[in-house]
Amino acid sequence: AVQFNHVQKEFADQMVLTDLNLTIPADEIFVLVGPSGSGKTTTLKMINRLEDPSAGEITYFGRPVADYPLQELRWSIGYVLQHIALFPNMTVAENIAVIPEMKKMTKTKIQSRTTELLAAVDLPAAEYAQRYPHELSGGEAQRVGIVRALAADPGMILMDEPFSALDPLSRKQLQELILRLQAKLHKTIVFVTHDMHEALKVGDRIAVMHNGVIHQVGTPADIQQHPATSFIADFFAGAE
Ligand code: ATP
Repeated sequence: AVQFNHVQKEFADQMVLTDLNLTIPADEIFVLVGPSGSGKTTTLKMINRLEDPSAGEITYFGRPVADYPLQELRWSIGYVLQHIALFPNMTVAENIAVIPEMKKMTKTKIQSRTTELLAAVDLPAAEYAQRYPHELSGGEAQRVGIVRALAADPGMILMDEPFSALDPLSRKQLQELILRLQAKLHKTIVFVTHDMHEALKVGDRIAVMHNGVIHQVGTPADIQQHPATSFIADFFAGAE
């Protein structure tokens, strides 16, 4: 679904990514994992053009992202962040409807999708649709964020440390929820985390990054059983 070809990224005079080559397949959860500062967020943001590469090319479904009208690209790619920025003066249902309305989805369609998606993340619409963000727990707000990202039926979803701010129990519940949801929806998801346990749990495939370089791409089993570099062996040492 996404391809990085010889991508470089430089900030001021710091080279953050030197030569990134990556193929992200469709319909899978693809995890980018690595320590802080390894370049995961920068890589993610180049897909929906919150950042542009200094050199090289990124394609989304075969077409360079730079050739898409920006609005089309952003509408086609859902985005979930560590701290979900729900509009505080809008209800859950209104927050979810923002992009579908811009895309001119009909009211009936938006309503049925909202109900269906809220049910899929265990937030029954009857109880939650009319709540305001301040009436939600952190875990519930993240679930609404996931529904909002899915509402307009995007071609892909980017998730940047979506569960990192949650307490351990909520985090575990959300990891399980994303796997259940994915078993139903088969979305293309790029998931950034610094947590190896989370990477191994949710990833169909994992790319391990360190200092702006991808050390290895593989299934969780590949990476655990055949770590390509000593950095990876050390990083995953201690994972069960
Ligand atoms: P973290 O988990 O801490 O966010 P990360 O792996 O996502 O780490 P990035 O956020 O992609 O890493 O950052 C990679 C490097 O690029 C870091 O050294 C960071 O300081 C630098 N960097 C990121 N964004 C900018 C920016 N807008 N301007 C200057 N430097 C930046």
